[in-house]
Amino acid sequence: MITTIDPSKIGQATPRRQHKRSATGYLPATLKDGKEIWPRGDEKTWKAGIRGIPTSVSDITNAIVYHVQSTLARQAYNLDNMGAYQAVALSVRDDLIVKWNETQMQYTRKQPKRAYYLSLEFLMGRTLDNALLNLGLKQQYKTATHKLGFNLEDLIDSERDAALGNGGLGRLAACYLDSGATMELPLWGYGLRYHYGLFSQHIAPDGSQLEAPDPWLDTDNPWEIPRQDVTYDVRFYGHAERIGNGKAVWTGGQEVLAVAYDVPIPGYSTNTVNNLRLWDAKPKRGFDLNSFNAGDYDRSIQENSSAETLTRVLYPNDNHMLGKELRLKQQAFWCAASLSDIIRRFKQVEKPWAEFSDYVSIQLNDTHPTIAIPELMRILVDEEDVPWADAWDITTKTFFYTNHTVLPEALEKWAVPLIEHVLPRHLQIIYDINMSFLQAVERKWPNDRDRLARMSLIQEGEPKQVRMAFLATIGSTKVNGVAELHSHLVRETILRDFVDFFGKSKFVNVTNGVTPRRWLDQCNPSLSNLITDTIQKPKAVWLKDLTLLKGLEPFAEDPIFRKKWALIKHNNKKHLADYIKTHLGITVNPASLFDIMIKRIHEYKRQSLNLLGIIHRYLTIKAMTAAERKKINPRVVIFGGKAAPGYFMAKLIIRLIVNVARAIDADPDMKDILTVVFVPDYSVSLAEILIPASDVSQHISTAGTEASGTSNMKFCLNGGLLLGTVDGANIEIAEEVDSNNVFFFGHLTDAVEDLRHQHKYHPIAVDERSPALAAVLKEIEGGRFGDASVYQPFVDTIRTGDYYLVTDDFDSYVEANKMVDDAYVKDPEEWTKKTILTVSRMGKFSSDRAIMTYAEEFWNIEQFPIKM
Ligand SMILES: *Cc1c(COP(=O)(O)O)cnc(C)c1O
Repeated sequence: MITTIDPSKIGQATPRRQHKRSATGYLPATLKDGKEIWPRGDEKTWKAGIRGIPTSVSDITNAIVYHVQSTLARQAYNLDNMGAYQAVALSVRDDLIVKWNETQMQYTRKQPKRAYYLSLEFLMGRTLDNALLNLGLKQQYKTATHKLGFNLEDLIDSERDAALGNGGLGRLAACYLDSGATMELPLWGYGLRYHYGLFSQHIAPDGSQLEAPDPWLDTDNPWEIPRQDVTYDVRFYGHAERIGNGKAVWTGGQEVLAVAYDVPIPGYSTNTVNNLRLWDAKPKRGFDLNSFNAGDYDRSIQENSSAETLTRVLYPNDNHMLGKELRLKQQAFWCAASLSDIIRRFKQVEKPWAEFSDYVSIQLNDTHPTIAIPELMRILVDEEDVPWADAWDITTKTFFYTNHTVLPEALEKWAVPLIEHVLPRHLQIIYDINMSFLQAVERKWPNDRDRLARMSLIQEGEPKQVRMAFLATIGSTKVNGVAELHSHLVRETILRDFVDFFGKSKFVNVTNGVTPRRWLDQCNPSLSNLITDTIQKPKAVWLKDLTLLKGLEPFAEDPIFRKKWALIKHNNKKHLADYIKTHLGITVNPASLFDIMIKRIHEYKRQSLNLLGIIHRYLTIKAMTAAERKKINPRVVIFGGKAAPGYFMAKLIIRLIVNVARAIDADPDMKDILTVVFVPDYSVSLAEILIPASDVSQHISTAGTEASGTSNMKFCLNGGLLLGTVDGANIEIAEEVDSNNVFFFGHLTDAVEDLRHQHKYHPIAVDERSPALAAVLKEIEGGRFGDASVYQPFVDTIRTGDYYLVTDDFDSYVEANKMVDDAYVKDPEEWTKKTILTVSRMGKFSSDRAIMTYAEEFWNIEQFPIKM
């Protein structure tokens, strides 16, 4: 069935709700003689019914029992941990909503400038523990649940991770929301409500990765509030016809309904509870009654299923572009719905369009939301009658773009025919933007055809492609990289011509950060408590000003303090050892050095180097006498991480890690000397167990490939020393904590290009470059870890081409590991000192610092404390 088009509604994303209502469902205050009047009914009756936040244990137990009985319709005698978790979560949700309502109402009333963080990924992890800590109610809930016969930690463990992200980029977005709320900033997140989060990872009997879907919404999700009344229409396909003056009408195609789901984001020790708005897709028309009546049931629900497919699944690629139509539709759907919502809110202030960017800043997390730039142009030009030049001025003042990678395979490019098919109007706008941009380039550098070709938004070829990083760059006020080295590389490589054109000041750096609430206080409470006792500052103070960790520094010289410090690390290692025993059946000795590498599996991140280093260690120990072996410092090497399901080499590396681990486990000579563990299904919650238990962590990407890294920050904040390359934020960590306290190795970024050139044009055999590595490769090829032919493609990447320079860095990597062993064994007191100094100097890497930089230097928004 084809819908008839109402010409007056063409191309419009029409808000479904009445204009009088605010974003939160509150009526904005009506003023009479300057005084607010109560909107409806009897004010006293309303106010008597408004819920506060229960803080006494008895009020909390009452709230929990109420939810057990009424919401869940269960009783004490049939309540398991899962049920009790749900009741506790519902009670905490009530608390969050009280503050959420108040926050949103005060924003609506005072209309401060707001910032919006558009991210296709939010890797949130669990919510209950974090919410309790941020609300300051954990102790009360612990007592309350105990009184009801439950252990709060078990309930916390019943929660399923919200894994709406792949890795660093998605977790960064989650840390930034936490910091935005904690710093009391009017900051909202916008994302998609994927019905399936990142796949869960299993290990097959042969050691390879198996993927299973993650239907995380199958169990009720108490952390979202459905807003069936906040909906927008979003159009795809159809036809766009130019009508002059840069305007067009876009008709036909498919219309999908975006429905809002709100996730409250509580700040730590503040009243602010911000919002993460996730869009779900729904068919616009429901059943096609014509087909239904004709007995064609299948066809009648076809349109439904195609709309609902949109938000079905998170694409599982990390740092890799995949040009799928559905992914483009996800991006367009999310950008269109978010902009409609932002614009509806702006219209409430009744200001001219010229003031849009005085009320709104939008941060683009990577190029995934770049289509928001032509979408805002479309709304302004086609729907709001704003002249093109004014619209472009408004648009470029509104957007800010964060680049996350310089790896060529990760840069987003969309085929022109695909955009033309899915978003015909947007393609016209992109061409128009490109034309005026290239005219400006031409004026600046007349007759420079090479430059025009290099800078065009359209890359020639079959098919032509739209370069999204370029579109994001010219459509934004500022462009930033995520660590000093990365920002430098952005300026010098992929955006060099744009720096020449726009000038340097547009291209800046904001080094990433992590939230110390989750990544220290929540995951490592003993350490957090010891820090509080030692630096004599309340948690509510130092967790919001992480530079106060400096106060620990003098205590590095205090042997009694060091003893307490080392004991905490030991207990965290025991806790991890228990986890590994229970879940994997492997025994590890907490007295060993725990060496951890957890991150997405990627060739550029070089889990391969770690693995080859382990085999080298194994061969070295095998060649020793029993007496020599006794002197070795025992090591437990732990890997975790997922490979994209379509990334053959990454999956092969997992398979080899698992089989090397098994071979070593099966070798009695290695008992209590070397253990390798691959922990399946790496997630935020697993990270929270692994990171506090680390002595050393590895961040060993080929120099210049890792934009920043954030797990390096999490480890150092928990006293796990850094073994890494001179790359990403490793460099800034070393600057802060002193290079004596990190273990650096490997070639520098400057050398990489030449080395790659050598490998390509003047290859030298591995046997010559690194005999130690050659011996390792021979063992793999000899079948020591299973069928050699299986691993040959991996060995070949090292032997020929070696794009990630494993052979070049291998020997210095082995050396660096010796330094780690020596430092750990020879002087444990000195080691503990290093870890204390490291933690004390990690203040810079709080995401609070990063978010305040964005707020002050990019968005121009102010802290807006919520009074209650
Ligand atoms: C922090 C984090 C990452 C990012 O790790 P990197 O080592 O910086 O790539 C990825 N996944 C999870 C679950 C994280 O918590």
